[in-house]
Amino acid sequence: MTETTPPRPTVAVIGGGYAGFKAAKALDDIADVTLVDPSDSFLHNVASWRALVEPEWVDRIFLPYDRLLHRGRFVQDRAVAVDGREVTLASGARLEPDYLILATGSSYPFPAKSDETRTTVAQARFRDAHQELRSAKRVLLVGAGPAGLELAGEIKSAFPDKHVTLVDAGPDILPGRFDQALRDELRAQLDKLGIELKLGSALDELPDVPPATAGPVSVTTASGERIDADIWYRCFGVTVRTDYLRGALADVRDDRGYVRVDDQLRVVGQDRVFAIGDVSTADVKMAGMASGQAELVAGNLRTLITGEGQTTAYVAPGPMILVPLGPDGGAGMLPWIEGVAGPEAASEIKGRGMLVDTYSAQFDAPPASERA
Ligand SMILES: Cc1cc2nc3c(=O)[nH]c(=O)nc-3n(C[C@H](O)[C@H](O)[C@H](O)COP(=O)(O)OP(=O)(O)OC[C@H]3O[C@@H](n4cnc5c(N)ncnc54)[C@H](O)[C@@H]3O)c2cc1C
Repeated sequence: MTETTPPRPTVAVIGGGYAGFKAAKALDDIADVTLVDPSDSFLHNVASWRALVEPEWVDRIFLPYDRLLHRGRFVQDRAVAVDGREVTLASGARLEPDYLILATGSSYPFPAKSDETRTTVAQARFRDAHQELRSAKRVLLVGAGPAGLELAGEIKSAFPDKHVTLVDAGPDILPGRFDQALRDELRAQLDKLGIELKLGSALDELPDVPPATAGPVSVTTASGERIDADIWYRCFGVTVRTDYLRGALADVRDDRGYVRVDDQLRVVGQDRVFAIGDVSTADVKMAGMASGQAELVAGNLRTLITGEGQTTAYVAPGPMILVPLGPDGGAGMLPWIEGVAGPEAASEIKGRGMLVDTYSAQFDAPPASERA
C-alpha cells in the first residue's frame, strides 16, 4: 500500500501590502496560498515621496506580484464580502480557506498610496503629480507627522528654491512616544533646509483645491494667519479599509474602524481568521510593525500546520522610527543605536536607497540599479 501525502491546508491572504505579501510568502512552502489584491503590483509606498520628487524612481517602487509566490497563486481581485472564513470577491469567485488572513491595510491620498489597479496607470499618475509639483513655487504640507516631515525633506532636497511650509495643529512635530531629542534634531535639520514650520494652530478649513494638484491655495489658521501656496499635500490620517466585513465579522471593529484582535492576532471570536498590519488594533500603523505581525502569524500557522513547536503572542516592539529628510538627512530612534540616530544612519539605512532593494528581492525583481 502506498502512503498518500495529506492535502496541504489552504490559506487565503486578503490584501498584498506590507503585511499580506510577507505572510503569503512565508507560508508558500507549507500551505496552498491564495493572495488577493485588486492591483497587479505591490506599491512600496515608503518610497512614494521620493518617486514624486525624482520620477526616475517611479518604476522602482512598483513590484509585480507575479513572481512573489512559487507554489501559491496571486488573484487580482477585491474582497467585497467576508463572513467568517467565507470570502466573496468582486468577480463573484468565492474562497473558503482553512485559514484566512485579513491584511487590507489603509488608504492615504495619492501619491502617498494609490488606488489604481494597473501599474502603468498608477505610474503615469505619479509622473503627472511630479509635473504639478514642479510647476509650484510655494508648497503647503498639512500634518507634521513622519509623512509630512519626510515630504518636506524630499521637496527641499530636490528643489531647494521652493518655499515649503509645514503646518500642524499640535504644539510640536512628530507626535507619538518618541524622545524629545529626536524632535529637536529633526527641527534643527528642517530649519537648516529652510522649511517653515507653523505649529500649534489648526487650519480653519482644509484648502478647497484637491491635494497634490497645482492651483491657488489659501488657508487661514485659527490664530488668524493667512498662508498662500501653489500646491498642497495632505500628510495626515490613515483610513482603514474594512468595508467588506459581514455577518460573523460585522461587529469586530473598534470605534475607529480597526479590527479587534487577540494577542495572537486572531480576529476576536474567530480561531482561524487573523488580521494583521494597519487594519488591526495590534500596534501603531507602520510597515515595520505590519511585517512583524505577518511573521508572527505565519510562524504560528506553521506551528499549527506541522504540529511542531508552540504558538506565540505578538509583542509590540516599542517606539522606533527613521525619518529621512531627503537622501542625505534625517534622524530616528532605533533599538540598536543609543540616543538619536543621526543623518548618517538615516541616509545609510533608509534615505539613500529607500529600502527598494530589500523589497525588490522579496518580489524576485532586479535591484533598483538594474531597473529604470
Ligand atoms: C507616505 C508614507 C510613508 C510611509 N513610510 C513608512 C516608513 O518609512 N516606515 C514604516 O514602517 N511605515 C511607513 N508608512 C506606513 C506604512 O505604509 C503602512 O503602515 C503600511 O502600508 C501598512 O501595511 P499593510 O500591509 O497593513 O497595508 P497596506 O500597505 O495599505 O496594504 C493593503 C493592501 O490591501 C489591498 N486591499 C485593500 N482592500 C482590499 C480588498 N477589499 N480586497 C483585497 N485587497 C484589498 C490594497 O490594494 C493594498 O495592497 C508610510 C505611509 C505613508 C503613507
